[in-house]
Amino acid sequence: MTEPTWKAAEKALGRRVQDRRLSYTVLDDGAVIVNVTISSACSGCSETWEGHAPEECGSGCDSCGYTGRSRSTWGIPIEHYELSDDERRQRREMRRTAARIRERRRQRHA
Ligand SMILES: [Zn+2]
Repeated sequence: MTEPTWKAAEKALGRRVQDRRLSYTVLDDGAVIVNVTISSACSGCSETWEGHAPEECGSGCDSCGYTGRSRSTWGIPIEHYELSDDERRQRREMRRTAARIRERRRQRHA
């Protein structure tokens, strides 16, 4: 079994990654890339008509192995993928405010 990729990523970053289920690549210069896999209709055998939503699935061809769907992996620099400290703080605030509103509502109806 190969070493989970977040281990190398955390070593390069000197901190924990936010999601250890993801796959990471550490570049030669120490930059950490998050590998995100996106599944979509195969462009080789699906069609998009103007004014219509793209097909969910193609009819199947050589390039997608007759599944009609293709998976592509995108490398996104970790600093663009993860939430910044500010964003995380804002989310915490929002959750706290929502909890406070719920609590107040509950008290009013008690
Ligand atoms: Zn195809």
